Formats: sequence, C-alpha cells, structure tokens
Amino acid sequence: MKHLPINIKLHQQPVWVLGGGTVALRKIQPLLSAGAEVYCVARRFHPDIRTLTIDHSIWLTKHDLKDLSVLEQLPRPRLVVSATDDPLINRQVYHFAKTHDLLINTVDDQPLCDYITPAIVDRSPVVVAISTEGASPVLARMIKQKISYLLPANLGSLARKARQMRQSIKENIPDFNNRRRFWQRFFDWSHASLSLFKDPHMNPGKEHIDELISEVNQTAGRVSLVGAGPGDPDLLTIKAIKVLQSADVVLHDHLISSDIMAMIRKDAELIDVGKQAGKHLTKQQVINQLLVEHARQGLHVCRLKGGDPFVFGRGGEEIQQLNKHQIPFEIVPGITAAVGCAAYAGIPLTHRDHAQGLAFITAHCSDSKDRIDWQFYAKNQQTLAVYMGLIKAEHLVTQLILHGKNPSVPVAIIENGTRHNQRTVTGQLHQLAAMIDEHKINSPALIIIGEVAGYAEQLDWFSPHVAYQPEEAYLKSA
Ligand code: SAH
Repeated sequence: MKHLPINIKLHQQPVWVLGGGTVALRKIQPLLSAGAEVYCVARRFHPDIRTLTIDHSIWLTKHDLKDLSVLEQLPRPRLVVSATDDPLINRQVYHFAKTHDLLINTVDDQPLCDYITPAIVDRSPVVVAISTEGASPVLARMIKQKISYLLPANLGSLARKARQMRQSIKENIPDFNNRRRFWQRFFDWSHASLSLFKDPHMNPGKEHIDELISEVNQTAGRVSLVGAGPGDPDLLTIKAIKVLQSADVVLHDHLISSDIMAMIRKDAELIDVGKQAGKHLTKQQVINQLLVEHARQGLHVCRLKGGDPFVFGRGGEEIQQLNKHQIPFEIVPGITAAVGCAAYAGIPLTHRDHAQGLAFITAHCSDSKDRIDWQFYAKNQQTLAVYMGLIKAEHLVTQLILHGKNPSVPVAIIENGTRHNQRTVTGQLHQLAAMIDEHKINSPALIIIGEVAGYAEQLDWFSPHVAYQPEEAYLKSA
C-alpha cells in the first residue's frame, strides 16, 4: 500500500480547482457534497460549473493560468486540484503548490499528485472508498458498481438513526454483548420495516427507544429460501448474494459449487443437508426441524438449494412447515437447471417453428406413483425438460414412444450445465439410454427432448466438451 486512505474534513474549507472543463466539473461535485468552498480558476467555464454558483459555495475567477500570480489572492486552500488540459500548466501549478507547501492532485498524472481520490459509494454517513492506487480507474469503478448493488438504498438513513440513538441505546442496554446483538439485528435489512422507520423524519424520543428495543429483541428469526442456480456463480441473483452475506446459518444442498459457498459470510454456521437420489443423507423432516430450530433462536437462516427452490426442490414443503410454526420466510428464486442448461447449450426452449410449449418434468418418481400423463407429453410442438432423468431414461423413452412420440425427435443431454466442465451430447429419442451409457453421463444432468434440442449442434457456445456423434454410433449400441 503506497497511499493511506483518510477521510478529510472539508466543511467550509477552501479548495482550489484549476481548470473549467468537464474534468474539473467531475472533481468539483464531490467537493461541494463534502461542504468545501471551491475556488475555480480557468479561462472558460463549463455551463454546469456556472450553474453550480447559483446555490453552492463556489467562486469562479476567469484567468489564464499561464500566469499564476492570481492564486496568491485566493484564500490558502486545504487541497488543490489541477484539472487543466495543458500538461505544461499542470506542471507549473504543481511546482507552485510545492513551493507553497500545498497538497495537490493533478488529474490523470500520478507523479504530480500528493494525494489521489478514490471511487466513492456514497450512502452518507456511510461512505465506501475504493482505490486501485491509480492502477486502473476502470477496475475501481467496476468494484464500486458491485458494492453499490450490495448496499441497501436505505443504509444512510439507518446509519443516521443509529447515530442519533447511540447514546440512549448504550444507557438502555449496558451489557456490551447484548448491545452488539441489538445493533446487528437493527442493521439487518429486514428491520427497515420497524415502526421507527415508518416515519423517516421522526426523531426517536425516549418512548420510541423503549419500543424499538423490545421490537428488535422480539423479532424472531427468519428463513430465506434461496435458489443458487445451476452452478455458475455469476448466475446468482443480487438478492441471493445479499442473503449469503448476511445469514447466520446456511443449510445447504450437497452439490452447491465451491465458488458459491465462498460467498457465504465467513463466520456463518454451515450445515450440509444434502440429499442424493437413492440415499437420503438427511431426511426432509430433519431439514424442516433444523430450519425451525435455528429460526426460533432468532437467527437469520438461509436454506440454499440448487436451481430454483420451487422446481423439484421441495421448497413448498419447507415453507409449509415454517408457516405452521409461524416463522417468517422469504423466497429468493434461482435460475432453474432447464433454463440455465438450455441457455448455456444454445438450445432455445421455445421456438416459433418448433415448440410453442415447455414442460418441466421429472422421470424420478416411483412406479407405483407414476402419474405422468404420457399422452400429453408425447404431443409434438413442445419441449420437455427432464430433471433427474438418468436412471429412468429407458422407461421414459419407452413410454413416450408408446404414446406416439416420434422416436427420431432430437434429444440433448447436458451434464454439469453452466459449470466449467459442462458436457453436451445430442442424438435422437430412441438412442437416449445408449447415449447415457456410452458417454458415461453422470448426475447432475438434464435431458431436453424436442426439435429445439438439435440446435445445440450449431449453437452450443459454452461446453468445452461436446459430443455430437454420428447417428450410426448409437444405432449399433441401441
Ligand atoms: N431445484 C433444482 C432441481 C433439483 S432436482 C432446479 O431448479 O434446477 C436435481 C436435478 O436437476 C438433477 O438431477 C438434474 O436433472 C438437474 N440439474 C441440477 N443442476 C444441474 C446442472 N448444473 N446441470 C444439469 N442438470 C442439473
């Protein structure tokens, strides 16, 4: 680290900005936000700079900076910003600043800088500053964007209220640990719904503080049922990331990718409640029980599931349990496997020419409970996305063909969809079981049946391992 970030107090302090163009304008705005008195010297001024003089503390001096004597007449500044488009003038200004012992920033010329300004996310009084020490302003802006997505819009008002109440809360909750717990709950975003915030202008009085403390302490835990998508961490929603970074406990499926697990708050408790087909490591009742128990301790519980929680995810059963025990919950949808796999394999799930409908089905249901309407799914002009279809593929193919599906309709199998090891195999419906066998397809894999599946052969833009076998290969083994 070559620069120490400090927050400098500029309220009613003079700052010189030399230059009057768009760059100067960009530098003036945050200075005015910080309450500085800006003295701007230039030959010409951007119209927006002129406009700022109407109701801000900014004074303009029209002067050619080839002659710096004018600066002697201005009040001595805390900071100097040199933002002219003339490198020679910038260098002269720099030397002037050095001889007068002034801290100077020369825009886009680091050797002529005593200080540099970071990119800022401003949720005053919360201010996040991002610096790459000048290595890449574009990178700093990208990081700024990511951080601003993550910070709730009401963070500023939350922090202002906290400042107003800090002393009263200290008096009312003398125990340090209890106080910390109170503040953690207070800042938990869901508490933006607390009565205190119904009227944003209200100054919290004694009675409000008492009410707030009991409200915050009473607030039970809650559960966020979060869809983690099919694997690529970039397919997480912003809301999912927010929950991962705030939850106290995460009950996760077995196969959530390590990149996604890495986004969980570092001190959160992790509980692997994964289930694999055929061998239930943890029974659903145990999961339901764990959700209820943890939420009852007042914790924010995240139930993290692959894909979308409501698509073959038993999310419905989990929230029924929570509802029964009056535990508040929210659902954060995720990209389901069919949508993610199809997109990453170049398969349009619907297509004007080939498929006007789409069905998500599972082949994984015990024979005795087989309630699949085969006749319906055997119809043309629709796409079938089959979840958990590997083991029952043969049964699936037999039933569809028996009910009238064309045996040569295209199929695609997408293994590890959206992950770095995604593999796509295409063929025809009657070859499906042989394809799974021959390519040793492993779970998780999604099967797409319908004319659109053939598009993968031309449009797969992502799979590093693609197996488009000539038809004969399967005919031999089928
Ligand atoms: N709730 C999940 C589905 C759970 S069922 C969702 O919405 O996606 C598990 C099945 O989903 C797997 O057997 C497989 O068929 C499919 N699946 C999940 N992730 C997958 C992936 N990355 N690639 C291919 N199929 C996947």
